[in-house]
Amino acid sequence: MASNSYDKNVGEENIASNIAENTIDIVYKKRQESIQKIIEKLIHAVNCKNESCTTFATCNRLKQILSHLQICKNRKENKCSVCKQMIALCCFHAKQCKAEICQIPFCRQIKLKLAEKDQEKFVQEFEKFQLEDVEEFISM
Ligand SMILES: [Zn+2]
Ligand SMILES: [Zn+2]
Ligand SMILES: [Zn+2]
Repeated sequence: MASNSYDKNVGEENIASNIAENTIDIVYKKRQESIQKIIEKLIHAVNCKNESCTTFATCNRLKQILSHLQICKNRKENKCSVCKQMIALCCFHAKQCKAEICQIPFCRQIKLKLAEKDQEKFVQEFEKFQLEDVEEFISM
């Protein structure tokens, strides 16, 4: 039974692959939107001085991570998973950021790097980057 309906679909691979491509588009768009939301929260957290801020649930967590980024000794050696996640997020943002003055950590540095020859390394980092992990990790 199942094989019959399969046979009917032979020759429709083009349609199937078009659908697959659209699905990737949707996933990609959703990812972009989620990243955008996290980035908006990050911009708030960069400027937020209120220690008991309740604007959104993760504000204080984000502030902790932001100050961790400044002081982390393992960051440069790529040993710290907290920093790695955050920097991956910032890289993702920087790739599409057009602002001349941006408050996202490392945005300027990353943009400068992207203009150099480090691109390939960054692309590799993006591929490893799991947005779900970041979302989970900032909501901890
Ligand atoms: Zn806040
Ligand atoms: Zn760190
Ligand atoms: Zn930026």
